[in-house]
Amino acid sequence: DTYLNANYSFDNFIEGDCNRLARSAGFAVAQRPGLTSFNPLMMYGGVGLGKTHLVQAIGNYIMNHFDNKMVLYVSSEKFTNQFINSIKNNTLQEFTDFYMKVDVLAIDDVQFLSGKEKTQDTFFHIFNHLHQLGKQIIMTSDRPPRELQGLQDRLLSRFKWGLTADLQTPDYETRIAIIQKKIQSEGIAIDFDVIEYIAHSVNSNVRELEGVIVSLMAQASLTRREIDVELAKNTLKNIVMNENKEVTIDTIQEVIADYFQISIADLKSKSRKKEVVYPRQLAMFLAKEYTELPLKSIGYHFGGRDHSTVIHSIQSINLLMDETPDVDETLQKLRSYFK
Ligand code: ADP
Ligand code: MG
Repeated sequence: DTYLNANYSFDNFIEGDCNRLARSAGFAVAQRPGLTSFNPLMMYGGVGLGKTHLVQAIGNYIMNHFDNKMVLYVSSEKFTNQFINSIKNNTLQEFTDFYMKVDVLAIDDVQFLSGKEKTQDTFFHIFNHLHQLGKQIIMTSDRPPRELQGLQDRLLSRFKWGLTADLQTPDYETRIAIIQKKIQSEGIAIDFDVIEYIAHSVNSNVRELEGVIVSLMAQASLTRREIDVELAKNTLKNIVMNENKEVTIDTIQEVIADYFQISIADLKSKSRKKEVVYPRQLAMFLAKEYTELPLKSIGYHFGGRDHSTVIHSIQSINLLMDETPDVDETLQKLRSYFK
């Protein structure tokens, strides 16, 4: 197990001024691991700017183009936990042996090692061993090495042996390209004015950009509307507005009624029709998830049912989730409405 996620590739990484150096250094390393002067390759930048994507793309490229290279991707958090467990289980030797025999070590978010002296000591030894053998080391961090407080100087000085490249917030053109790629991969068509609108409005990071597109698509299918600028405006407004807004049982009932094209009165009624029972159960399920209300008062809001009915509803949805994938999908769409 290399812990790599095959979905991250160079093909689906959009290049722009904001990431050109990191991307091309990464690609050079992927083509000639251990043989460039970019060793270690250190890439840094804020959250959601593509560090994990890029480092995994390098790993995947090497896995796909070399038969005999062992690539290992690990988050610093996982590395730390494995280290701690190896101490507990008296298997430190196996732990270091394992890491010392890889050809490519990609270690994500090294800022996480801050203050963890023993883990850093071990990483230092692994680093030295691999580097001496000409093995490729790739690291990411959320800040430049000089700002990595709590990391030993001997480590920091080694981080600077190779190349340090930063990832910046995507510029307008790159945002346009990322949105286009994303909607293309979803297999939908959206007018360019909508794309422009999103690119203008969301300029923080790529993860957020992707989140907006997902919400927009969910909103479109929930309301059975076409994706236009008006809907994009609504979506953005909802995302911003709902960030700290509490989800109430009334909102849940409204969303469910709207989604299933039934009335709120239906939800509260005694009806046992399938078209009503399932939405009602979902609504109770979400009420439990989103509100702090006791089961008794959830039941009260659904036409004065008692708490055992609420329990039964939640159990039914849980059962259905195991049996039919649709249910999970529906829940996800509904949840996106509350985000
Ligand atoms: P980080 O590790 O820096 O926090 P990620 O690599 O997890 O960020 O990126 C967040 C999301 O944005 C991922 O889904 C990733 O695929 C996507 N992403 C980031 N940069 C790009 C890019 N240049 N092109 C395409 N997708 C990107
Ligand atoms: Mg990351």
